[in-house]
Amino acid sequence: MSTRGWPNILITGTPGTGKTTHAAQLVEALQQHAETSSAPWQHLNVGDFVKEKGCHSGWNEEWQSWDVDEDKLLDELELVQGAGAKVLDWHTCDLFPERWIDLVVVLRCDHSQLWNRLEKRGYKLNKIQENNDAEIMEVVLNDARESYAEEIVVVLQSETPDQMEENVGRIIQWVTAWRENNADDEDEA
Ligand code: ADP
Repeated sequence: MSTRGWPNILITGTPGTGKTTHAAQLVEALQQHAETSSAPWQHLNVGDFVKEKGCHSGWNEEWQSWDVDEDKLLDELELVQGAGAKVLDWHTCDLFPERWIDLVVVLRCDHSQLWNRLEKRGYKLNKIQENNDAEIMEVVLNDARESYAEEIVVVLQSETPDQMEENVGRIIQWVTAWRENNADDEDEA
């Protein structure tokens, strides 16, 4: 049983699979859904959080990304995760302690569609290639399976708006079930 009143959800996947779009839509839907609207849902884009809190040792020109200071990031996130009702969105998942996370959603996308999305985003060729290879090799999915209990890892396709809507609906159903289970545990305690 969790000590949190509301779960923390991690949305992960290769860059371009739809994490930020899903997280934003999910938080909006959770804020509107009758059974979940009482919680202070927050979308925590970990990439933005790294920038805001200065959890990095500088900009990496080759990879066009911040070199993350993982210890500092974990210290800063520790301060906010305890309250629950967080939707974390990040492209790696093996950094967070298991105790922080109640559901891990791994988004998947066909690799040629992913290539187009990353090209549109203006990524350099090396970065597109690296991410495309990672999606084909299921790197994030394997990390998620190695880092968390099997029953909390869910794999969802993210290729169409309809799939996104369906995914958001499934996660909301999961949140309401989580609440019921935790309320049962509290009754039995
Ligand atoms: P990530 O946060 O994983 O890097 P984004 O949420 O920024 O990915 O999505 C990358 C691009 O792909 C955006 O233009 C977004 O609109 C599009 N996209 C993501 N998921 C879907 C989907 N299920 N259907 C259609 N377009 C999508």
